Amino acid sequence: MRCDLLVTARFLLPSPHEQVIENGALAITGDEIVDIGTADELLLNHQPSQRLERPSGLIIPGLINCHTHIPMVLFRGLADDIPLKRWLEEYIFPREAKLTPEIIALGTELACAEMIRSGTTAFVDMYFHEDKMAETASKIGLRGWYGEGLLDFPSPSFPDGYQALEATIEMAEKWKNHPLVEIAVAPHTPYTCSRDLLLKAGEIAQNMDALLLIHLSETAWEVQEIKSRFGKTPTEYLYNLGVLTEKTLAIHGVHLTESDINILAATGSSLCHCPESNLKLGSGICPVPELLSAGVNLCIGTDGAASNNDLDLFGEMDFAAKLPKGIHHDPAVVWAEQILDMSTTAAARALGRQDIGRLAKGCKADLAILDLHRPGLTPCFNPVSQIVYTAKGADVSDLIVAGKILLERHELTTIDQERLIHEIHQVVKGLV
Ligand SMILES: [Zn+2]
Repeated sequence: MRCDLLVTARFLLPSPHEQVIENGALAITGDEIVDIGTADELLLNHQPSQRLERPSGLIIPGLINCHTHIPMVLFRGLADDIPLKRWLEEYIFPREAKLTPEIIALGTELACAEMIRSGTTAFVDMYFHEDKMAETASKIGLRGWYGEGLLDFPSPSFPDGYQALEATIEMAEKWKNHPLVEIAVAPHTPYTCSRDLLLKAGEIAQNMDALLLIHLSETAWEVQEIKSRFGKTPTEYLYNLGVLTEKTLAIHGVHLTESDINILAATGSSLCHCPESNLKLGSGICPVPELLSAGVNLCIGTDGAASNNDLDLFGEMDFAAKLPKGIHHDPAVVWAEQILDMSTTAAARALGRQDIGRLAKGCKADLAILDLHRPGLTPCFNPVSQIVYTAKGADVSDLIVAGKILLERHELTTIDQERLIHEIHQVVKGLV
């Protein structure tokens, strides 16, 4: 049988919970995996147009970053060690006001280069000028969900949340048949959106059958604020508005009560854990074991690079795995497969997709290859342990999205990195 591309490697991990295949291979035609198994079997049954041979490689499902603000890479390291409110008001908001679609495109390209180099094949973004981001990242070849941020006050792209909501509907129409772009509805937080705006956002997300993204209970201040305005926790408040559904992807969930956790589980909402950002901004720590035992679908995101300060999901998984062990004084309170699940299969579930986050026949060909022939990854007793506790983004040698090679032997194929870095140095001079 003919196929477009045959990838072989020392190990292939189909999903966090499946057996590793030694001398594994997968055959790709178009944007899909058409066969998976051992290299011997697949070489016998397929005549590929192209081969990718990685004898020291570990093929893994492409990682999914469930929450980020990708152009914020432009503000990486601009202001650290400052409380969230001051950080936003004094350092971030004045710079964001200067962002044009052209600068957003450049920031998007930089973020895509970083994500491709660190094994990320899909991301969920909430920011401004999202249409420009979708245009840029889809040309580069990454899969993305784009939610134009809805706020009660003017954003860098729209004078108010209602106009941003109108633009969201137009974007959904414009991109509806694109294989790599999905449009989400993205009210920023329960405290920066009016009750009416939240209701309209919820209604429109349901009409469009789109994902609804919202920051939720990130800080103790937010919980107090919503309680004083409405007499409820932010989760209870959103639940009463009917905003929490199976298509809701709430972000952070640092300060949750037991009842909040039960609401998230009962509504089938997903929650995105952003450990590094929460730690760096001093917000607190998301109660991961409690959420997992309540059955909440938990995934992982980096948040923007200005509060992280990178987009490397390997670092995020390492933090997510170790934090609860330290807090609960129990090394078995979460284990590596659960954490990898949060960046792959659970992330795909949050996005309502069966065909990404794992490697199987009929799934999209979204994958990364780690080069195990490196001192820091030697020996390799258990590939899942290696991914969660040892690997860094820089260990990724190759990356494929929808059957297209975006990174080959550490070289970006769709981005001119030298030109990009030069342009970034020029543009940030005008921003800071
Ligand atoms: Zn965020």
